[in-house]
Amino acid sequence: MIALWLTLATANAESLRATLALEDDGSVRVVRAERVDDVVPSLPGELAVLGADGAVLATVALPPFATTRDIPFPEGGGAAGYAPTRFLRVILPWPDGATDLRVRGQRAHPFTASRMAPAPSDAEAVLANGPSARRLDLVFLGDGFTTDDRPKFDARVDSIVDHLLTIGPYTEYSGLINVWKVFTPSTSSGVDEEFATDTHVTPFECAYFCDPAIERLICCDEAKVVDFVDGHAPFADGIMVLVNSDKYGGAGGFTYGTSYTGDTQFVQVAAHELGHSLFGLWDEYSYGYSTPAPTTPADYLSPNCVSHNVADAWPAWTGEAVTSADPANPGAADQVERYEGCSFDDWDRPTSDSCMMNTLQDQYCPVCRETIVTKLYAALGGEMIVSQSPDPANRVVLADGESQTFKVKSLGPEQGVDVVWSVDGREVGTGAEFVVEGCDDLDGELLASVVDPTAWVRSDPQDVLSDSVAWTVKTKCAGCGCATNDAPPTAWLGALGLLVWRRRKS
Ligand SMILES: [Zn+2]
Repeated sequence: MIALWLTLATANAESLRATLALEDDGSVRVVRAERVDDVVPSLPGELAVLGADGAVLATVALPPFATTRDIPFPEGGGAAGYAPTRFLRVILPWPDGATDLRVRGQRAHPFTASRMAPAPSDAEAVLANGPSARRLDLVFLGDGFTTDDRPKFDARVDSIVDHLLTIGPYTEYSGLINVWKVFTPSTSSGVDEEFATDTHVTPFECAYFCDPAIERLICCDEAKVVDFVDGHAPFADGIMVLVNSDKYGGAGGFTYGTSYTGDTQFVQVAAHELGHSLFGLWDEYSYGYSTPAPTTPADYLSPNCVSHNVADAWPAWTGEAVTSADPANPGAADQVERYEGCSFDDWDRPTSDSCMMNTLQDQYCPVCRETIVTKLYAALGGEMIVSQSPDPANRVVLADGESQTFKVKSLGPEQGVDVVWSVDGREVGTGAEFVVEGCDDLDGELLASVVDPTAWVRSDPQDVLSDSVAWTVKTKCAGCGCATNDAPPTAWLGALGLLVWRRRKS
């Protein structure tokens, strides 16, 4: 059985959240479907949302169901393990009139009228920057922590968050992120660390050796994790399960990541795993074997690894000088090219050794960094501007002597965003505010265009780093000749022309 964990979100704080199970025969079973008062931004993804008459109201191409779990830094080139994930989380704007879902040709009527509270009281904010619909929400869970172990859980969450905030782009874009934690006491302290032992009773049944060949691979009962988050922190975009163990290990997939909590390195392991779980980055080291040649576009979904069969890798970044931050080779000169070995032997990575997706170090390579920034913006649901005044729904009419200040406030990096003001396509100003006087000659559309000018993003095909808002403005004296000392240049040229003509005549 493969289950689909689905959230359909609206722009006005309503979502559809559904857990569907795709059975082995291809049929769809609806486990649960609810209408909820919270929204979560979207991921790409073949799912059709249908109206009562069967009309298709919206479609999304779902990413592959089965993804591999990460094995952090296997020693001795040991074989990598696969732990297919069974859940997918997809969020899209609520299509009005939605009644059915169709997945892989199977139609289901999943909707119920039940509603849930938006932010459950047991999700505790660690970093609160704004409404979940407009932020990337990371949720920490703990496994194997008894009530007495709670201080350790809290401290480890804080350490990881503090560490993340020292690393770009987390540092610069922290305002786009919310972090939450939900503590779930375990009856026994610790998790199962040995293969084929099941001695710890823990909420998410996390254990080492989830591939019998990989000791350090920590996986949990995915259904339990997803079900819990569904009920306690449904707004989650990313899930990190911390296990109460000092033994090195972790994993990163696309529904949740795991990390041990033993010594100072766990913060780096957690950061690496979050690279997978939050942003879909692949490992930039090789598991030590090749993979069949990609034959479908879905095989190219890695933002930071490219197959030998693919001609273009990172054209925008090729040749970019970087510096390694690997403690074994700090400060070493490096540059963006194609380096053999990126999850698989026959895939290439962007840098020799300047990325935490390759070796434990506190930086991402330019290709990963660009991916992270664009995915952070994608989590905003396509809207950077959080407020504007006056209300664009109302036409602004100004008489002589009147003025109106137009303002926009946008989400973006710490250093702010660029705002350009234009009237019917002609640039008239820059900055967060723009004043229109009654005496200005204006009758048309005033547009505020916002863009993040970051040097970290060189290609933004989905246009997620910009936004705009427009007002309809008319100044009453447009063209009426107000008493003003800044007549437009064309008027002066006209006057000059008249003067020249008169001289010729005389
Ligand atoms: Zn990288």
